[in-house]
Amino acid sequence: MKLEKKDIRSLSKEELRDFFTSIGDKPFRGNQVYEWLWSKGAHDFDKMTNISIETRAHLEENFVINHIEVDSLQRSEDGTVKNAVKLHDGLIVESVLIPTKKRTTACVSSQVGCSLDCKFCATARLKRMRNLNPDEIYDQVVAIDKESRLYHNRPLSNIVFMGMGEPLMNYKNVLASIEKITSEEGLGMSPKRIVVSTSGVPKMIKKLADDQVKFNLAVSLHSAIQETREQIMPFAKSFTLPDLKESLEYWYEHTGKGVTYEYVVWDGINDKEEDINALVQFCGYIPCKVNIIEYNPINDEEFQQANNAAIDNYIVKLEKARIPVTVRRSRGKDIDAACGQLANKA
Ligand code: SAH
Repeated sequence: MKLEKKDIRSLSKEELRDFFTSIGDKPFRGNQVYEWLWSKGAHDFDKMTNISIETRAHLEENFVINHIEVDSLQRSEDGTVKNAVKLHDGLIVESVLIPTKKRTTACVSSQVGCSLDCKFCATARLKRMRNLNPDEIYDQVVAIDKESRLYHNRPLSNIVFMGMGEPLMNYKNVLASIEKITSEEGLGMSPKRIVVSTSGVPKMIKKLADDQVKFNLAVSLHSAIQETREQIMPFAKSFTLPDLKESLEYWYEHTGKGVTYEYVVWDGINDKEEDINALVQFCGYIPCKVNIIEYNPINDEEFQQANNAAIDNYIVKLEKARIPVTVRRSRGKDIDAACGQLANKA
């Protein structure tokens, strides 16, 4: 039986160096191949022209280079681009390029589908098939960087982990991808330009703090009342608000960094005075900003965006409590590229 070849991109630089030592070559060869795989984006051993033909053939015998393929691309009227990305095993995830005047942001996926059950999110309707590997996350960023240069004449400036999946449920691979994105051999991007968004997994938020990560954290709060939050995000029965609060305090204590709360205001769900008061109280625990996101309908009558007066109420009360608040308009709605709409429809 022939053994399945290993994906060479799952090897660290050290492991590549060891491989070359084990076949009697110089460890330095590992650095060269690593550069081809990560900085130069080679998908083919034959492209590695500073490696001897013999060695390339040896690599070919032992390894494959798995990589993503942009399967289809949709462009929105507002400049947003959505990529349907095909993985080596045929599964599809989506990633989005969001241009504004000053920046271009990549919104990337971390899992195929999602294991959480937020009732207002289209991705939650898909079963979680598997976690993405570090290279599959990295490749989404590279693809969007290319599109940013092509369509907007500038490199990618920011990355948000707000595509499909729950990044903290794929902790190891998400961190490994960020390591590559920020390293000089990868894209050399500053971690300050990266936001990881979580629905709020307390244990993993503490782990982020222990690991002293340098990127920013956003938490999809949507309600600071336990009963309400459980109704719209049923997993919150296990990951409760008191545990979330404790993990965020731990995060702040160990990293000195605040957090951004993402918040959608829905009609009849979290648009009352008591909802606002609970949020203001929650915001008192650690330094934070609130990002009010426009709701993107996903064919569910239970959820309707609250009216402007309700949103204004939130803004007035938060500002009075000196909590920075921004309202984020949706982008790319016409191509189902907005938050919570990624469901492999097109
Ligand atoms: N699982 C992570 C990241 C993916 S979702 C998280 O939950 O944070 C990215 C953001 O989109 C989250 O804040 C999520 O709550 C929000 N979202 C999901 N569905 C939405 C919808 N239909 N309209 C607007 N925002 C939505």
